[in-house]
Amino acid sequence: MSETPYPYEAPVSQALFDRASLVTPGGVNSPVRAFGAVGGTPRFMVSGNGPYLTDADGREYVDLVCSWGPMILGHSHPEVIAAVQDAVARGTSFGTPGEGEVALAEEIVARIEPVEQVRLVSSGTEATMSAIRLARGFTGRTKVIKFAGCYHGHVDALLAAAGSGVATFALPDTPGVTGAQASDTIVLPYNDLEAVQEAFHRHPGEIACVITEASPGNMGVVPPDPGFNQGLRDACHKNGALYISDEVMTGFRTSRAGWYGVDGVKPDLMTFGKVMGGGFPAAAFGGRADVMAYLAPAGPVYQAGTLSGNPVATAAGVAQLRLLDEAAYDTVNAVSAQLRSLVTEALSKEGVAHRLQNASNMFSVFFTDRQVRDYEDAKRQESFRFTAFFHSMLSDGVYLPPSSFESWFVSTAHDERALEKIADALPAAARAAAEATA
Ligand code: PLP
Repeated sequence: MSETPYPYEAPVSQALFDRASLVTPGGVNSPVRAFGAVGGTPRFMVSGNGPYLTDADGREYVDLVCSWGPMILGHSHPEVIAAVQDAVARGTSFGTPGEGEVALAEEIVARIEPVEQVRLVSSGTEATMSAIRLARGFTGRTKVIKFAGCYHGHVDALLAAAGSGVATFALPDTPGVTGAQASDTIVLPYNDLEAVQEAFHRHPGEIACVITEASPGNMGVVPPDPGFNQGLRDACHKNGALYISDEVMTGFRTSRAGWYGVDGVKPDLMTFGKVMGGGFPAAAFGGRADVMAYLAPAGPVYQAGTLSGNPVATAAGVAQLRLLDEAAYDTVNAVSAQLRSLVTEALSKEGVAHRLQNASNMFSVFFTDRQVRDYEDAKRQESFRFTAFFHSMLSDGVYLPPSSFESWFVSTAHDERALEKIADALPAAARAAAEATA
């Protein structure tokens, strides 16, 4: 039996977690789900409907994780479910080309001007891994610049100083990543253009690409300073490198055209996942046609996938993207703004020092009174206050991301009733945060 400080609060989930821990390392298939940063019993969910999740103990929660971003229309949206049922009835995988993948690619290309061609894959990790391989193949160079606190999936070369689960578990270097893989990665502080220029100066003709989260959400939400993304693009182009914008989290969430739709800085390559799969494993990378032409079978850089462009996943993705019109983004943005003001009001009332930072409708709360501009700033927050805040919200039926280094996500389905439930839970949580001790 695993030991937790909250053993009896969710007995069915706890029993499932114990069972899982016997057959799966740590009892979960993605580390952050284990509640390692906050303690307690990870909730095993059995169903989702609109803004709500129901766990195995029969408790309902307002969901502010939304599957880490994908469920922007809420859970079990009837039109997405209908598209999936229709696709499933025709078979689940063919290993051949199919019209669904063409439709999804067309939808992406139509929305995001810098994407002239796109290749579908099954996860954000595959997308960033492939984009980097392509950038190296295209430029004939080896080195990659990434930023501390930016997470691009569990790609060997990109795990150095990654945020998200790596931040949560304080794993600065992951065993299993070789020195050779890590030595081609240059990790720089986020929002520091001078450091980027200096790195190009120190490694002339060696840097294949700069990869950055379009607006980071994996060290908490830390938007780029004005001009930062443009400065990255300019530095890349001046030095013959490619500018890769990772929009796995922001893509189709922060606007119809993701973060590109917000700042208009044109990347050479972009990566996508989460929202574009409608809750299924679908992701993509794409960009300049002359760069994408290097990809097999058109070009020499190999990349492939048995389930890439899967018919059920693409049906879900197309259905979800077609529902995401300007009105849908207006709704998500309004929900996010309302929620941010509820959170800040509750915390301010209890005198809890905090910073709410947002990038369009993505946001997170840092328990600090200083602006957070990079990973070092993010790590200086009083995370112990978040733990108390999190557990109070959870016991009052609000499911937050179980780490202070994550973005909160809302959906079009978060209606007045859901917001009222959150508003009712906030005063006690703010009090718990105020009273928490390190
Ligand atoms: N890139 C970013 C910005 C992400 O936030 C994530 C996942 O959270 C990934 C890449 C990896 O995506 P996946 O978990 O689908 O492999």
